[in-house]
Amino acid sequence: MNYPTGDSEGGHPYRLRVGCTFYDVIYQQVLRTTSSVRIRNGKVVLKLSRFAYGAKRDEIVRKFLKWAEKRLSKASGNDFINPVYEDGGRIVTHNKIYDLDVGARQGGDKSKARLKNGTLIQIRIASGLSLSAAKKTVQNLSEKLIIKDQTSYLCEVLNELNQLYFQENFVNCRFKRTRSRFGSCSTKRNINISFRLLFAPREIFKYVCVHELAHLKKFNHSKEFWCLVELAMPDYKNCEKWLKNNGFLLG
Ligand SMILES: [Zn+2]
Repeated sequence: MNYPTGDSEGGHPYRLRVGCTFYDVIYQQVLRTTSSVRIRNGKVVLKLSRFAYGAKRDEIVRKFLKWAEKRLSKASGNDFINPVYEDGGRIVTHNKIYDLDVGARQGGDKSKARLKNGTLIQIRIASGLSLSAAKKTVQNLSEKLIIKDQTSYLCEVLNELNQLYFQENFVNCRFKRTRSRFGSCSTKRNINISFRLLFAPREIFKYVCVHELAHLKKFNHSKEFWCLVELAMPDYKNCEKWLKNNGFLLG
């Protein structure tokens, strides 16, 4: 259950200011015995146990907000823009900007999406969808279109870096929509890269590609592995740091 909105929640803020950026704070009451906090899509979400109330609850909220502030203060904040999945919204990737045109579909019970002139994502929503279902559909269809549009770019970057630094063979490369990791390289030599890295600076995207290609030579994180990465990208440590501090904020 969400608490009612207002200026503050029991004296705690609904917006957290870190530097020049404001982050929404969402308070949710959960049936669990433990409380938790996470940052997702630029929002701080506090799940508070219903067994925590009064002074104990205040203390938990203060501790969580302090943690969020510390975590967010490390983020660089202005070198990427998260996508806005709505009519008139923009999706800024490091090599292309997409605009969104969302409308209702006249007839037909399936929502449709197409890419017009290379950068305009046109979505027509099937009638009868709830607002939240329509929102999810817009995001889902947009992501699918962008992945389809950007797959050749991903393969180009991987092929170029591979030729330059590794000269290995890989079977397939794909963008994935998982949130849990930025890239993976399977023993079957398939490379997957997180689609969210399209919103990160190009160097960060390049670093994850280098990292996964290096796994074609070494399937571990040994000293030799990091040497291979460093040869291709001497600045890789800064990219790792960027991912640690900002990666969780990518849309
Ligand atoms: Zn790795």
